[in-house]
Amino acid sequence: MFIMNATTSGAPLALFWVALTLTLLTAVPVTALWYLMRRHGRLEQQLKDLRAIHGFAGRIGRSLDLEEIGEMAISEASRILRADFALLAVVAAGAETQVFTTDDSPQIAHEMTSADWLSLIHDASVVALTGAELAASGFTGFAGCDHALAARVNDDIGTMGVVIMTRQNPSTTEFETCDVDRARSLADHLAESLRRSLLHRQMQYEARHDALTGLPNRTTLQRHLAAASIENVDQQNRYVMMMDLDRFKEVNDTLGHHAGDELLIEFTRRITNQLGPTDFLARLAGDEFAVVTVGHSEDDVIQLAHACVDAAAQPVTLNGLQLVVTASIGIAEISANASDPETALRHADIAMYNAKSRHAGVEVFRSELDRRTPARLSMLGDLRRSLDDGELSVAYQPRLDLATGLITGAEAFARWNHHARGSVPPKDFIRIAEDTGLIKQLTDTVLAQGIVELRHFHNTGHQLSLSVNLSTHDLLDANLAARVGHYLSQHGVNPGSLTLEIAESSLPIEAYRSRSTIQELHELGVHLAIDDFGTGYSSLKDLRQLPVSELKVDQSFIVNMLIDQQDEVIVRSTIALGHNLGLEVVAEGVESKQVLQQLHDLGCNVAQGYAVSRPLDAERFATWLCAGPHPSRRFDLTESGDLEFTTEQQLTPLAAPQFV
Ligand code: C2E
Ligand code: MG
Ligand code: MG
Repeated sequence: MFIMNATTSGAPLALFWVALTLTLLTAVPVTALWYLMRRHGRLEQQLKDLRAIHGFAGRIGRSLDLEEIGEMAISEASRILRADFALLAVVAAGAETQVFTTDDSPQIAHEMTSADWLSLIHDASVVALTGAELAASGFTGFAGCDHALAARVNDDIGTMGVVIMTRQNPSTTEFETCDVDRARSLADHLAESLRRSLLHRQMQYEARHDALTGLPNRTTLQRHLAAASIENVDQQNRYVMMMDLDRFKEVNDTLGHHAGDELLIEFTRRITNQLGPTDFLARLAGDEFAVVTVGHSEDDVIQLAHACVDAAAQPVTLNGLQLVVTASIGIAEISANASDPETALRHADIAMYNAKSRHAGVEVFRSELDRRTPARLSMLGDLRRSLDDGELSVAYQPRLDLATGLITGAEAFARWNHHARGSVPPKDFIRIAEDTGLIKQLTDTVLAQGIVELRHFHNTGHQLSLSVNLSTHDLLDANLAARVGHYLSQHGVNPGSLTLEIAESSLPIEAYRSRSTIQELHELGVHLAIDDFGTGYSSLKDLRQLPVSELKVDQSFIVNMLIDQQDEVIVRSTIALGHNLGLEVVAEGVESKQVLQQLHDLGCNVAQGYAVSRPLDAERFATWLCAGPHPSRRFDLTESGDLEFTTEQQLTPLAAPQFV
């Protein structure tokens, strides 16, 4: 019975054990299989992810374009991390924050600064964020979302950006540890590409901008001009203004480059303040700036240019010194049918140089101003040949000592008689000579011929002095004093008989090289005169510092001094100023005896002009001189008749001067 019972009750139990054992026996392989499959699935997913990340790295690695990299990064990040939304904020130093999102309308409540973005992730490279944290940082629309990952995009150099990925859909699962790894790996690959792209962008920026002022440079201006020409073919009102600071070099030479840089930055600030939002300002080189304006009339542009000149002329403090540095502006129209935008720049440049030399502040380009015409180029070739062939001659204009009525000297002027053009005025060929470096040869020609003539005057009993004009370029020639000394000693002429004239407008007050040349000439014993006085900017201090012995009042004040009271006051006070400084005062451009008389009465020392004689060639000058009693011709203010030199006058002996 017991056996029976035990068998009956044990059978189900045994069956159960058997079933359990069997169940267990099947569950183990099933679980193992499930585990293996899951592991395989994960490995496969990891492999897929790896492939995806690898593919991503390859794709963004091919691009240098930040826009392309940004767009690609967010679309790939959202795909690889199965995010509903992805965002990349590029916060690289020195550039504006740039945000890329998978959504067209970024859900950012306010302008987030770089610091705001970086505050999302402090130290860790990848962090999980809550919706509340995102909202606190300035995001909206994430309040209900608890699944967000933020990764810093950084390399050894620094942080370049932040990537944020969110899973907003409540049905999606939260980010896991493996997602953090993916995000990290993604951010690392992105960092490499982003760095390359940012460096490229920086190089491009530097290639197109000026490092000191941050303004676009010449290359960018040229592109802008080209684009403006294409986009606005019908647009007539397009102008370019070329600006240049007057005497910037002197600021650099005297106060140092640091002060020069400060001046340029201040100038940029002042000009920027005058411009409208569509005006384009660029720095071309040194103290050269350009503005392109579109849609303004010529009058408006002229007005704008004057406003810029006025703004620039406000005093500026550099190294504790208050200075006034003026600017010159040239304006040229960007013609719709100009062959290239460079033409407008060249025209504006020409107008600007004209404004500078005339001290006009602003000048609009006219074709007459263009000195680089084919005619001018052919003239340059002719001038070079004439100089080589010794065809340039010298004319002499007598200088009358107003106290004694004696001719005590002469000024030498270069004369060029062109075979086809006839007599070319010095103002035309001197500029060509200055622009092309021929001026050195020209000055040498005048000096050499003049000194030979001076020797001749002395030999014939006329103890005259000779004045020769110099150009600023001559003063930059370190050998000038040596050459002058050589010509003088070659002909046994006393250096005290030679005066070198420097126009006031080109007076290099502080330029070191010019000053040392001036000093060497002074030490040699030649006299120095300031020509065209009243047209430049020299101050009393400049006059006292330079070893000058003569002031030549500019002829523009002399011509009308009898009818224009202001001119008369200027002449009168310049004479007083010169005398107070111990200088001899010379009036040039004296065309009438009345003016001669007036100058004599005002105490002016020397007069030059058609009233005495026009410039004459050496031979005629010698004859003219000999027409009066030796040792030098006396000049009679009571002489009647034609004031210009005539053959008759040559032969008429002159009476003693009578200044009545
Ligand atoms: P500047 O040195 O001030 O010379 C005075 C100019 O006025 C000369 O003109 C002269 O011929 C002219 N002139 C003289 N008397 C009168 C007058 O009564 N009325 C008027 N209206 N004009 C008068 P030019 O010879 O045409 O020379 C013009 C300028 O060219 C000179 O001005 C000087 O700056 C420059 N120049 C002339 N020769 C040379 C030279 O050999 N070397 C350099 N570097 N410059 C020269
Ligand atoms: Mg002169
Ligand atoms: Mg003069």
